[in-house]
Amino acid sequence: MASSNPVAEAPNIWAVAQAQFDAAAEQLDLDPGLRRVLRVPQRELTVNFPVTMDDGHVEVFTGYRIQHNVSRGPAKGGIRYHQDVTRDEVRALSMWMTWKCAVVNIPYGGGKGGVIVDPKKLSMRELEGLTRRFTTEISPLIGPDRDIPAPDVNTNAQVMAWMMDTFSMHRGYTIPGVVTGKPIAIGGSLGRNEATARGAVYTLHQASRTLDIPLAGARVSIQGYGNAGSIAADLLADEGAVIVAVSDSSGGIYNTKGLDPARVSAWKAEHGTVVGFPGADSVSNTEILELDCEILVPAALENQITAQNAPRIQARIVAEAANGPTTPEADQILYDRGVFVIPDILCNAGGVTVSYFEWVQDMQSFFWTESRINESLHEIMDRAFESVHAMSERHSVHMRTAAYMVAVARVAEATTLRGLYP
Ligand code: GLU
Repeated sequence: MASSNPVAEAPNIWAVAQAQFDAAAEQLDLDPGLRRVLRVPQRELTVNFPVTMDDGHVEVFTGYRIQHNVSRGPAKGGIRYHQDVTRDEVRALSMWMTWKCAVVNIPYGGGKGGVIVDPKKLSMRELEGLTRRFTTEISPLIGPDRDIPAPDVNTNAQVMAWMMDTFSMHRGYTIPGVVTGKPIAIGGSLGRNEATARGAVYTLHQASRTLDIPLAGARVSIQGYGNAGSIAADLLADEGAVIVAVSDSSGGIYNTKGLDPARVSAWKAEHGTVVGFPGADSVSNTEILELDCEILVPAALENQITAQNAPRIQARIVAEAANGPTTPEADQILYDRGVFVIPDILCNAGGVTVSYFEWVQDMQSFFWTESRINESLHEIMDRAFESVHAMSERHSVHMRTAAYMVAVARVAEATTLRGLYP
């Protein structure tokens, strides 16, 4: 999310995802054949598709839908729109979805999609046209029983509504379960919009108890003020935490006395960025990671905490609301320095967990109350945190490797039980 291109400058994110997997496979002493299977995505689709722009000219866009593994159920994972999307990035994100669904033990495999586009440069009509044609192009892969997209970076409930409508138009009847993260009026779930942040806060409760760092009064720095970052700021402020800094792709703001998330969100809605918020100093997207605070929440893009800046991180807890914000070298540095990392595949799994609830509700055409959703989410996040933390203590490994060990063991068991076809 830094205004420069973090994905292009940093180590290849797909190599990072494979290195993380290798570390867990080693710890688990995983069968070499299984390692070869789980190390690569099962299915990759690249599409080049035309969109008529508002001035009448035709533009061709490139997009991907990749399914890493479907041993435990249909592929599940978001679609991102970003100018820096690459096939390797989508591969990594699809693999992380497999582990994420396994860590929280929901019956899905992992998938991800992306389109190379800066959606901020498109009109609403162009965005709808792009979404409808991309959905058409990936429709051989998706469906409620095979692969279920959801929102990710720069996509939202409106984009999911267009995807659901396009898929339904092809079939001639309404199929709400083909995507999650939809608007409530067309089969979306209560609590889905807040779910990623709420799940992250549940894991922070657990970490704060484990480390004896109360959330009330804790200083929090948040990189990224999209869906996950802004709602996490709200929820943490409700708990009495002090939000000292937040940022978006244009830059960041900082006030040691604390920022009021409701006022910052109102400012961002009016000005399109948090930058310029009155009564705060400005801070860059790299500086925000190194501020004096108890809790750091990377909630933007990959490759933000690296071997270069990890020695300077001052937070005691890093809660990864983003996917892939920390490189393996940085993980080791943070672990050696006693910084407690709640890894992405655990920390941000609340989003896909409530996506699962949405899909179940769609399949049954029976909708739950918000309190039932939040209670079920809480239960699943607590159980996942406890199993990962126990694994980390038992094997003296950091929380990421522990989360991978829990996840990879579950996927390996399913793959082994099913056997190799033919
Ligand atoms: N894009 C979100 C993630 O990275 C949500 C995926 C989903 O709900 O399927 O976890």
